[in-house]
Amino acid sequence: MLDKFREECAVVGVYGHPEAANMVYLGLYALQHRGQESSGIVSSDGKGLISHRQMGLVADIFNEDVIKQMDGSIAIGHNRYSTSGQSHLKNTQPFVVEYAHGPIAISHNGNLVNAEILREELEESGSIFQSTSDTEVIIHLIATSRESSLMGRIVEALSRVRGAYSLLFLTLDRMIAARDPRGFRPLVLGKFKTGKGHSGYVVASETCALDLIEAEYMREVEPGEILSFGPKGMESLKPFPPAPHAKCIFEYIYFSRPDSNLYGRNVYQVRKELGRQLARENPVEADLVTPVPDSGVPAAIGYAQESGLPLEFGLIRNHYVGRTFIEPQQSIRHFGVKIKLNAQREVLRRKRVVVVDDSIVRGTTSRKIIRMLRDAGAKEVHMRISSPPTSSPCYYGIDTPTRSELIASASAVDEIRRFIEADSLAYLSREGMYSFLDGRSDGFCDACFSGNYPIHFDDEGHVRQLHLFEATQQR
Ligand code: 5GP
Ligand code: SF4
Ligand code: MG
Repeated sequence: MLDKFREECAVVGVYGHPEAANMVYLGLYALQHRGQESSGIVSSDGKGLISHRQMGLVADIFNEDVIKQMDGSIAIGHNRYSTSGQSHLKNTQPFVVEYAHGPIAISHNGNLVNAEILREELEESGSIFQSTSDTEVIIHLIATSRESSLMGRIVEALSRVRGAYSLLFLTLDRMIAARDPRGFRPLVLGKFKTGKGHSGYVVASETCALDLIEAEYMREVEPGEILSFGPKGMESLKPFPPAPHAKCIFEYIYFSRPDSNLYGRNVYQVRKELGRQLARENPVEADLVTPVPDSGVPAAIGYAQESGLPLEFGLIRNHYVGRTFIEPQQSIRHFGVKIKLNAQREVLRRKRVVVVDDSIVRGTTSRKIIRMLRDAGAKEVHMRISSPPTSSPCYYGIDTPTRSELIASASAVDEIRRFIEADSLAYLSREGMYSFLDGRSDGFCDACFSGNYPIHFDDEGHVRQLHLFEATQQR
């Protein structure tokens, strides 16, 4: 069985820098929010690939000794996130394999929707899989390709996969980046400022990684583009028929870091604008606006600015919450949420509160937060969400639960309001979500809000009518 829709990830690659592995490490550090389960870096010293992969956080996995041993001017890395049972070291990327022409490493962000079918085919003809990750399918397709050049093999492999991929490959002397024709997942290109002998390129999931390592943003890797970095510099290839773009709108709403620039816009500014629009669409008489930190902060600022209500931090977050903690035998009310958030009585007592968050998934956290706000003295709690109801699962690389676990898949807004025990609840409209783009929604995927999937599925998430894929692309 493949590990399905559990691949929120970050990728970083550096070509042509004397401390490539160190730069990748810092890039992964900046992108820790995209995956906290495991990390890995692979570098090339021209003679072989040096790999270090482990479960845990970037800061805990890599130290000076490890990085020092990762010689070479090319390196790629990966952060992985998984909430499913399939969280093993064997699924930790970058994957490294030997094929006919030497070693190759791969880092993948996204989710392939026809991986299961391809895997069965490959296994029937003798490929032996080592992980439960969809990414390994790409490696076997490259290894079994009859094309002679590496680029030929990669193009052939990618022409057979469907779904979302932002990819980095590393060989002894080259780095290759690829983004699927719809551009589901982000991928950006930057270069190191020349002057101190640090010429070279970086490719990363988000621009905040470029900022930390002082690389200059050049542009996005375009959907459908393959970039090859080698001794002759950078080459760009667009070998696939163009498809309508389907860039993930949820990256703007929740997933990307607010200091990143995504699809040409600053994420923080976009989130603030979503909050403003939310206030225009769903005003409420109240005493103050308070965010659910951290994800709700920019939207709450926008809501407060537009409504004229004061912004207060009624909830304070502990930023050092790890994966495990010892739960007391005697139960503490709302324990799971309380360990992360604390409600401030001085701010909330006898107040009518607008609480702003980016999304409601299962509704269980929101329910506990609202109870905490009331326990701390809030007189009324009005919840405002800076995106439309999350009603459908994502099959393109964001870890949303199955349809039945999404509260908005079967419940109307007022039923959700009753479940989370809010005095009122309102979401941003789908049109409102695109207001910062003057209403232009073309080029984006919003399937988790609209159910309108750029590639079709049945209820289990299996790909339907794959043979019609080319036709759908033309729509
Ligand atoms: P709920 O009330 O649905 O249990 O939790 C809502 C919270 O989940 C919100 O604060 C939102 O920021 C957060 N959230 C939304 N999408 C995701 C996601 O894909 N992964 C994680 N870890 N949290 C999410
Ligand atoms: Fe992003 Fe939602 Fe589309 Fe998944 S379904 S790619 S989370 S917009
Ligand atoms: Mg949140």
